[in-house]
Amino acid sequence: MSIPELFASDVFNRQVMQDKLPKEIYKSLIRTIDEGAPLDMSVANVVANAMKDWAVEKGATHYTHWFQPMTGITAEKHDSFISPMKDGKVIMEFSGKELVVGEPDASSFPSGGVRATFEARGYTAWDPTSFAFVKDGTLYIPTAFFSYSGEVLDKKTPLLKSMAALSRQALRILRLFGNTSAKQVHSTVGAEQEYFLIDKKMYDARKDLVFTGRTLFGAKPPKGQELEDHYFGAIKTRISAYMKELDEELWKKGILAKTKHNEVAPCQHELAPVFTTTNVASDQNQLMMETMKKVAEKHGLYCLLHEKPFAGINGSGKHNNWSLSTDRGANLLDPGSTPSENGQFMLFLTAVIAAVNEHQDLLRLSVASAGNDHRLGANEAPPAIVSVFLGEELEEVIESLIKGVKYNGNGKRTMKLGVDTLPELPKDTTDRNRTSPFAFTGNKFEFRMVGSSFSLAGPNIILNTIVADVLGRYADELEKAADFNAALHDLVVREIKKNKRILFNGNNYSEEWAKEAEKRGLYNFRTAAEALPHFADKENIALFERNGVFTAREVVTRTEIMLENYCKVLNIEALTMIEMAKKDIYPAVNSYIVSLGEALRCKTSILPGIACGTDERTIRRLAAGNDALGERAEELEGLLVESKAYENTAELAKFFADKVIPVMRELRASADGMEMCVSAKYWPFPTYGDILFSI
Ligand code: ADP
Ligand code: MG
Repeated sequence: MSIPELFASDVFNRQVMQDKLPKEIYKSLIRTIDEGAPLDMSVANVVANAMKDWAVEKGATHYTHWFQPMTGITAEKHDSFISPMKDGKVIMEFSGKELVVGEPDASSFPSGGVRATFEARGYTAWDPTSFAFVKDGTLYIPTAFFSYSGEVLDKKTPLLKSMAALSRQALRILRLFGNTSAKQVHSTVGAEQEYFLIDKKMYDARKDLVFTGRTLFGAKPPKGQELEDHYFGAIKTRISAYMKELDEELWKKGILAKTKHNEVAPCQHELAPVFTTTNVASDQNQLMMETMKKVAEKHGLYCLLHEKPFAGINGSGKHNNWSLSTDRGANLLDPGSTPSENGQFMLFLTAVIAAVNEHQDLLRLSVASAGNDHRLGANEAPPAIVSVFLGEELEEVIESLIKGVKYNGNGKRTMKLGVDTLPELPKDTTDRNRTSPFAFTGNKFEFRMVGSSFSLAGPNIILNTIVADVLGRYADELEKAADFNAALHDLVVREIKKNKRILFNGNNYSEEWAKEAEKRGLYNFRTAAEALPHFADKENIALFERNGVFTAREVVTRTEIMLENYCKVLNIEALTMIEMAKKDIYPAVNSYIVSLGEALRCKTSILPGIACGTDERTIRRLAAGNDALGERAEELEGLLVESKAYENTAELAKFFADKVIPVMRELRASADGMEMCVSAKYWPFPTYGDILFSI
């Protein structure tokens, strides 16, 4: 099959709909997809039947409502199309009702205390804006997930609501600029996914990887990433075979996998698809992560999506490239070439800057997790402080605007919005500030703080909502203006002045920036435990309610779920460390001490008087090290017992961050120190060197 034939061959997309559905039904469905028009059950029945016939042709026997509970991954329950007949035979059936609603039991999904037992029933509702697809003999139907009482239990529904809020407000702005044709404004996302690929045998031999997705022990190998010879390096045959199959699998599912390359750390790679609307990008990213893992196993590999699988070398992120686009495909963050286009661009740009400044806390906590804590604010890629990078040209334009000073790029005049044109801004990648957590890259923003294992929904719910809120405020003001151009100019100048502290073009990793940011009054939440409780701050609840994205109760329960998740992850990590320390490392070191002791006895009895200083020193060092290891493991056990007494999740999270993590660190240090002087034959699991350089 050629690639164009292969592409989306497993997807019930517009092309297939048009081929398989009667004209009127097709039109009606497209109205639902594009304009959110309600779907008639008679239409749903015809669509369901066509979908089933198409899926059965592709070998499907089952269908599933595919949804995204608060676990951060997807869930599915499969039902067959089989329906019994009176004569004892069966037919393959699928009704409109089965397509539109489902009723999975919701009682075992995280709810943050939303559901009482009597309302354990959960419902799924078809999201026609994300196409159904066939995978492993099942028709997958993307759905939203909510409770009997209407409480939202998933990540998709609020994402759709945030997109709707953004569309509403952005359209008001577009109308002010005389755009009468746009029907919707979508937020668009292209997410660059970083990941590690290691040998499956190495993975299986490490309990920490199996239980937690990251290594909890491991001394630094002689070679790490310091030579920078992996970044964009030639792709090894085994990896390249994996990437080829992965591309094909993704293409079949209609995912536009586009760019692939080796990343900075050994065994680290990146895959970026072409951007699409946020909702579809989020669904596809889930499918992508799942497919990455599955294809890896076929190649004897394991795909690690954890933010920090290995200490001391780069972790993985998911750069969230974000922009706004009309339903006609006009990118609203693309500076135009006429004065009015430029005025519009500057207004949207200002709105994003203001939104990020006003809601740094929300952006920070939208990417907060136990895993991502190892990246943000640690000694690598984006710091925990949120700031915006615009690039020199745009900063210069802004300076000219707010100070009324002459601007070079514009024939030495001062800029006037709605009257003057902006200069060409370079869309080039060379002078980008790679250290910025939120960078303007020519016609979109790149939010770099998102962790590699995250669902795209969380951060994009926040981005969409905060920008929608600011746009709504701007629309309120500008709709009342007598002189639009003058009001626009004043608003942009005033707002940029007000939010200027969020702009930073320098090195985000430097000590000075942390100090400077503090002076500017910017937040610096170092851990998820510090950041997450702010989700439920009074003004944040008001923001979500105002924009119709979350109810107050949903915000509170979601905060609870995120904090709970943080504590659970750390609890599992601590337990895994204790187990590995006591059952694997401690006995292994003891065995090695015994063997050294035997060697020592042997040497001194055969060759009396020979110097055995090294043996003695090693024995002493290991004996002390193993004792420290045992003590730290016991201390950690004690802390976990203590943790059971906490009833308030935010306090428990703080306990894990402040008390448990430091002891985990000490436990690790004592093991890693011993690893360096224990015979490789005795060390109970593969080392960093084994894992990172085995492919
Ligand atoms: P880089 O590594 O230089 O940042 P990549 O090419 O790896 O860039 O990734 C850029 C990502 O940005 C791609 O997924 C691309 O589709 C996406 N992108 C481009 N334009 C937009 C846009 N208007 N909205 C959202 N994402 C976009
Ligand atoms: Mg990239």
